[in-house]
Amino acid sequence: MLKFDENQSLSQFQDFVNKIYGLPDDRLYSIWDLLTQQQRFAMRALKGIRKGDKEKLKTNLLISFSWLMAIANRLHIDLEEEVWRRFPAMCSYCGSSSCFCKKIKPSERQKVKIDSSLKPQNLIQSQKMFSVIYPPEGRTLAEAGVHLAEEMGEVSEAIHNFLGQHIQKQFDEIKLEMADYVSCVMGIANSAEINVARELSKIFYENCHICHKLPCACNFNSVASIKT
Ligand SMILES: [Zn+2]
Ligand SMILES: [Zn+2]
Repeated sequence: MLKFDENQSLSQFQDFVNKIYGLPDDRLYSIWDLLTQQQRFAMRALKGIRKGDKEKLKTNLLISFSWLMAIANRLHIDLEEEVWRRFPAMCSYCGSSSCFCKKIKPSERQKVKIDSSLKPQNLIQSQKMFSVIYPPEGRTLAEAGVHLAEEMGEVSEAIHNFLGQHIQKQFDEIKLEMADYVSCVMGIANSAEINVARELSKIFYENCHICHKLPCACNFNSVASIKT
């Protein structure tokens, strides 16, 4: 039996998703299917924001997040590593430990020195790190949602570009966009006061959160008809 513990890291969550869903994902889902599922649940999360339904937001945001792990697994991207490279305890644009992009509007990314002693050791610390870099007071929940939609489009575009032309630079772009997407998930969670690690541990307390099997035995059509 596998579960996700709230003290575990993003890397461990990605690995958890691989162990539970790697087999059905490889057999049943093209990368486009994985993207569709990730977007489908993210859109439902945004609907939760529009309707003021925090439960709907929370569940769908986290399920979408688990599909993002499936995409990272398919492409063999170490998401924790990419998130740290993009957000080394500072904003990746202005290089400040608490972003002031809105004031200075930097036109290009700053070259920064990375202090690896600041790297979050688990998902809780990672979420905290994002609340310091991008304090929730600086935006509304709806704005955080719009930003998530924007980044979701960019992840999708990057994957389409890479799988069209197979250029390394385009693959690197996928890694950056996926890291940006993670920052937006954390942004929404911080704005809505959702503890990502704890809520994931409640959903994934025993293998697949639907069939509770290891590996997941949910069939393609039943997943396609999930309503949350
Ligand atoms: Zn900034
Ligand atoms: Zn299942």
